[in-house]
Amino acid sequence: MEIENLASEAEDFTGNVWKMEKGEVCLVDAGTGDTWDVVKNLDSLEKVVITHSHYDHIDNLSKIIEKFSPDVYAYEPSNLDVDAEKLRDGDEIKILGLEFKVFHTPGHKNDSICIYNKRNGILFTGDLIFPEAGFGRTDLAEGSRDMLIASIKKLLALEVEEFYPGHGDVVEENASEWIEKSLEEAEKHQSKY
Ligand SMILES: [Zn+2]
Repeated sequence: MEIENLASEAEDFTGNVWKMEKGEVCLVDAGTGDTWDVVKNLDSLEKVVITHSHYDHIDNLSKIIEKFSPDVYAYEPSNLDVDAEKLRDGDEIKILGLEFKVFHTPGHKNDSICIYNKRNGILFTGDLIFPEAGFGRTDLAEGSRDMLIASIKKLLALEVEEFYPGHGDVVEENASEWIEKSLEEAEKHQSKY
């Protein structure tokens, strides 16, 4: 399955907007700013999954709803300006005919989730972890380093081939090892933030 970042050419600061397409089109996060210029040109859009409700991941949502009327899924729909279906920890959602399991992963923000497809070893991490052993800020409202560490630990048991973060590039090689490295960095409790 091809997964494309519609925000890769964005000049404005934005979270990634990952597009999956196979019979239907699904976005993971909605982005902000000039990513809309790319999103608006999609032929169709059936689903949007929100990893967490920071504006750089959700700002385009109302324009997306107006143009495409997709189903929107989020852990805490009340944090959005649009109607969305609530996801809970352990839920399975079907995207492009594939089952994605929902992991509630607070620490960066309380409504953060990761979604995981076991068959393809694909994980979308939102702002929990990033490439090169990075991890999400925990100094913002609702941030907690201890919760972030506990959330990363939830991912260790998964067989991850590739992870798609909320910022930065896809991690396609040694993804599980990089998850462990992000955990190690977070556990240092250095005053990065
Ligand atoms: Zn964020």
